[in-house]
Amino acid sequence: MEQSDMIKSIIESMKMDLYVEAKISEMHVCALCGRIGYKELPMKKIGEKWICIDCLRELKEALDSLEEWEQEIALKNEFKKDIEKGLNL
Ligand SMILES: [Zn+2]
Repeated sequence: MEQSDMIKSIIESMKMDLYVEAKISEMHVCALCGRIGYKELPMKKIGEKWICIDCLRELKEALDSLEEWEQEIALKNEFKKDIEKGLNL
């Protein structure tokens, strides 16, 4: 191999490495479902974690129903107290 060919091939492999590194830095693993997000799976950084759009949607639904959920928990606790009183616990 001539020296100029060698240099060319070194440069080509360096380009490849840089390309791969750039692509990898665009990839993130969802902290919740473990899927790898890359273009087709949009992701958002929350704190130090990346979370995919599907998990964010689920989180949003959970947050939207949080109030309802809290009321349900409060109600259950009330019932529990009443039952415990009734049972003389
Ligand atoms: Zn996810």
